[in-house]
Amino acid sequence: MNGQMMQQPLLISTLLTHAERHHGEQEIVSRRVEGDIHRTTYRELAARARRVANALAQRGVKFGDRVATLAWNGYRHMELYYGVSGAGAVLHTLNPRLHPDQVVWIADHAEDEILFFDLSFLPIVEAIASRVKTIKAFVVMTDRAHMPASSKVPNLLCYEELLTDVSDRFEWPRFDENSASSLCYTSGTTGDPKGVLYSHRSTVLHTYAAALPDALNCSARDSILPVVPMFHVNAWGLPYVGCAVGAKLVYPGPFLDGKSLYELFESEGVTMSAGVPTVWQGLLAHVESNDLSFSTMRRTVIGGSACPPAMMRAFQERHDVQVLHAWGMTEVSPLGTVCTLKPAQLALGSEEHLATQSKQGRAVFGVDLKIVDGDGNELPWDGKTSGELMVRGPWIVASYFKGAGGDPLVDGWFPTGDVAVIDADGFMQITDRAKDVIKSGGEWIGSIDLENIAMAHPAVSMAACIAAFHPKWDERPLLVVVKKSDFEVTREELLAFYDGKIAKWWTPDDVVFSDTIPLGATGKMLKHRLREQFKDHRLPTA
Ligand code: ADP
Repeated sequence: MNGQMMQQPLLISTLLTHAERHHGEQEIVSRRVEGDIHRTTYRELAARARRVANALAQRGVKFGDRVATLAWNGYRHMELYYGVSGAGAVLHTLNPRLHPDQVVWIADHAEDEILFFDLSFLPIVEAIASRVKTIKAFVVMTDRAHMPASSKVPNLLCYEELLTDVSDRFEWPRFDENSASSLCYTSGTTGDPKGVLYSHRSTVLHTYAAALPDALNCSARDSILPVVPMFHVNAWGLPYVGCAVGAKLVYPGPFLDGKSLYELFESEGVTMSAGVPTVWQGLLAHVESNDLSFSTMRRTVIGGSACPPAMMRAFQERHDVQVLHAWGMTEVSPLGTVCTLKPAQLALGSEEHLATQSKQGRAVFGVDLKIVDGDGNELPWDGKTSGELMVRGPWIVASYFKGAGGDPLVDGWFPTGDVAVIDADGFMQITDRAKDVIKSGGEWIGSIDLENIAMAHPAVSMAACIAAFHPKWDERPLLVVVKKSDFEVTREELLAFYDGKIAKWWTPDDVVFSDTIPLGATGKMLKHRLREQFKDHRLPTA
């Protein structure tokens, strides 16, 4: 016997129509590429998204066609999120931080039809326009007054003109909720990038889960500033969550420095934000060196790489901003776990809170986790035994776009390539990426712990721990450190800093000071580059 409830497909357009009807006056504020602050509402967003849908139809974009963007976080990008997917086409967010050769490769692989881009990305578009095979039109996301002249880009169109020329009346089509909605490529630090093709259903389910109190805890009372880019896993889903709950959204555009972000936090009454640790370093440095405080910020989601406990302490103890440590990946839409405490942890002291919060957290409903050994056997949740993290759920990739890389699943689970432990309360902690683990005499040393300790030293601005060759142990940890400009510290002082904080044999064998640590297109440390750079490094213990 079937239930007798309405059949309504879970479509992205329903998020927008909900926001328009129930939160029409709620604001969306953007710092534009043009430099000014722009204000709009969900009502206006919905009308302009319908114009986008009409403009796409007028240019021959059909159901399932890929429409690419190269854009910062802003209201026009959000109009495309809804206009493109709502109409049944697939929004492909290209990452402008990639090398133009990679952008060409990815756009060709995706067979993008049209590219919408922010003014500031004109140089990239000029570099790729004559090389991409399928893009027929290039649309600058600006008005006529700001349109650039470019002899290198054929068929250069103006976004505001496209929208003015069409009606704001459009009936969002109803179709199978399993239809593709958006496409995002993994950064491909090894091998070719692979496309992850989200569906309307996976996106809407992810939206429900992301908004939950023990996940990102979003509501109509929030003013949310996503620092995480809309070109990186859909800004962790926040543009969708915004519509679902009717939160105010504040978009920073290209201005991601501490000063610009802080100004927006204060002027727009931001209560919640989200981003990778490297961004927060700039913000904290600005706030602390100018003796500022946050008047409305209550919490920030930190993920993408491990959040060093020292950063958590700074936010929570000095600024009264709660840190929500989260884990996810492109293949997971991206939300997998969020670290919110249960009563058992809350009953403990603040040091224990911090110890738990430095874990990546508990699975949100919809995601199941396990850790396995090299033979695929499930390992115990004892907080000690580490193994590869496997996940499954309705917003986790089942196969890559065009079948790239073959079937990724093992017995119905997606192997994440992360190494983790899970404790008896279900808190998962990433100890490393499988390819970054340091294998010392057959035992594994997790680099994240070693980096977190180094980051707690006042003189350290960035720290990476990598495997260096050792004739007896195969690999031993080498700590690469970027010093803060106004601090001094020696190799010996840093090594002594590990005393008592970690098993003696985990202590790095050596420290090298460097001016920079290479970061990838999504702000993560490129450890394979560091390993290459230090492949001939001779450890003093060797
Ligand atoms: P890519 O895999 O293409 O670099 P993703 O953004 O999908 O890009 O990265 C996902 C990976 O980032 C995870 O597999 C994990 O290694 C790392 N990661 C994400 N969040 C965290 C976190 N909170 N702590 C540690 N590592 C994290």
